[in-house]
This record gives sequence, C-alpha cells and structure tokens, in this order.
Amino acid sequence: MSQRQIMRAVVIHRHGGPEVLKLEASWPRPVPGPGEILVKVGACGLNYLDIFARNGMPGEEVPLPLITGGDISGTVVAHGQNVTSPALGTPVVLDPNWGCGACEYCHDGLQLSCLSGHMLGERDDGGLAEFVKCPATQAIPMPPEYKFEEAAALPITFGTAYRMVITRGQVRPDDVVVILGAGGGVGIAALQLAKLVGARVIDTASTEKKLECARKLGADYLVNYVTDKEWDQTIRKITAKRGADVVIESVGAASWEKSIRCLGKGGRLVTCGATSGPMATTDIRYVFRRELNIIGSDGWTHNELRRVIGLAFQRKLAPVIHSVLPLEKIAEAEQLLEDRAVFGKVIITPGAPDAA
Ligand SMILES: [Zn+2]
Repeated sequence: MSQRQIMRAVVIHRHGGPEVLKLEASWPRPVPGPGEILVKVGACGLNYLDIFARNGMPGEEVPLPLITGGDISGTVVAHGQNVTSPALGTPVVLDPNWGCGACEYCHDGLQLSCLSGHMLGERDDGGLAEFVKCPATQAIPMPPEYKFEEAAALPITFGTAYRMVITRGQVRPDDVVVILGAGGGVGIAALQLAKLVGARVIDTASTEKKLECARKLGADYLVNYVTDKEWDQTIRKITAKRGADVVIESVGAASWEKSIRCLGKGGRLVTCGATSGPMATTDIRYVFRRELNIIGSDGWTHNELRRVIGLAFQRKLAPVIHSVLPLEKIAEAEQLLEDRAVFGKVIITPGAPDAA
C-alpha cells in the first residue's frame, strides 16, 4: 500500500447549496480501525440523501466536516485489526447502513431501526473521495465482470425498493402496482422488482421522455402526472374501476391524496419519502371504506440488500445509469439531480487528479 496518507475528497464544511462542496486535494486518508476495512473507491452513486445532508436536515444533525456519498463500490486495500476477509484486492459494493450491534433492533436484524445507527455519507464519511472505511461486514463481494459504476448504482435505491415492494408491500403476481416518480432511482428499481414478481405496473412520471424509458424497462401502463391532472381517475379507468393494489410512494405532498384515491379495496400505500413536502391531507373515508393499509418503509436490512444485489449480479435487475462524471464535476452532478433532469443514476468516479 502506498505510504501517501492523504487523498482527494469532496468535503462539506458547512451546510448550503452546491457552492459548499469543496474539493480538497490533501484530505487525511481514513485509517481502518479494528473490524474495519479501507476501500479504494471505484465509483460512488449520488442520491437525494446527499443533497439533504448538504443542505442540512431539520432534526437530523450530520457531523461536519462531512464527505457525502452512500452508494460505494471499490477495492479492499487495507484491513484493520482482526479482519481477514474480504481479502485484499477483492472488488466490493458496500451496504452503507449499520447499527450498534447490541440493541433490541439490531438483535432482530433491523439495523435500520437502530437508535445509534451509522450511514456512510450521512453520519459517517462517504464515498465522494478516493478512499472510505467501514466495518468489514458491510462489504458485499462483486463478480469480477460487474463494473464499479453499475454496482455503485445499486445499494440505496435497490435496497429501499426491495423492502418497499417485497417485504413491506408484499407485492404478488397479478397485483396492479402504481409507481410514483418512475424516473427516480427507487422508481426504476421498484418497477423491475414488481415485474420480476409478475405484477402489472402502472408507471407515472413528469415527462414523456421518462415514461418512454419506463416503457423500455417493462412498465405496462404509463401515466404523465403533469399533463394528466386527474391521473388517479385514469388509474381507476385502466383497472376497470377496481383501483390499484399497491402504490409505491416517495413523492409526498404533491401526490398523496391521489395516491390514496387510486387504490382499490384492501389496497396498500407504501411510502419511503416525501421529496415534494411532508404535509398532506388524508381523506379518512377512503381508508376505512376501502380498508386501506398505509405502510411506512425506511431503508433495508443487510439480508434484503444482499438478496437484491444478488439479483442484480445475476442480471435479473439492471441498474440504469444516466451519466458518469469525475469528482471535479460534483456540483454539476448534484444540480442534475436537483433539477430532476435525470432518468437513472448519476455516478461519480474519483479518477486521477488530471483526468478531469
Ligand atoms: Zn442497534
């Protein structure tokens, strides 16, 4: 291993817009402690989480300075004490979330509920850097032919979608599943998982271009929720007034009321986010008359992530990549995400200092 103990990293010293993303040329390289590995970053996928962490989240303090970026693939280059695997040189993708290992939730395998949980790029330094460290148990070895850029498109969105569609939503063959915001990373993953189960999928998106991409990924019906103001009625028409079985929600305030209205008897609304705002109205009559289930979903367990990444490694699920950009273009990359100008993931590669 090189003796050079510094690295290039995008560091946030204070909260704010893209202007607070500072490319540091000689930031201290992390040193793996007992049970930890050091990973040379191959690629890092961006998520809205990175923008939330950069802007500052009310009620959810993040430590500063911070390196964001939670979707990380790379090569194991050093072991801390008591670590023997994965072997040095193994290509891995990282589960960014882990718990204290000792509380009641962790004992149930629910590190996502741990009250002193860890998250790369949010509570721990992430992958917008040349190196990152984490517990060795977070590393999932990759098949040699799988690309770092593909693997870095997987953990957060596919882990989130797996728990929503499979564990919490219990989607079954022939269910009608409505996916809100088909162009987002979770939407793309949820569509593929619902199709893999055998469900029929109605994808909704804000532009025809995103809907065309969703059609290519297997969506059965497409609804433009910007031009079709009564899209909940459209969904009832598509389903011959029966309504949908499951709605996969991450939009929040802007779509909530219609998401409730488009569900049929016994329908399940599964929500993992509220990107358009957290406050919405629920017409309670729909909830009791149709015996609706409103189900929260937050993250993934380590086993859920291993299963969904395993499906991707078998090419049963495909990460969709919008663009791959070098670390130097991080501000531009995050702007793409904020402008919702993407279908699929924006991936950052640390590259060489002169590669930009
Ligand atoms: Zn715990």
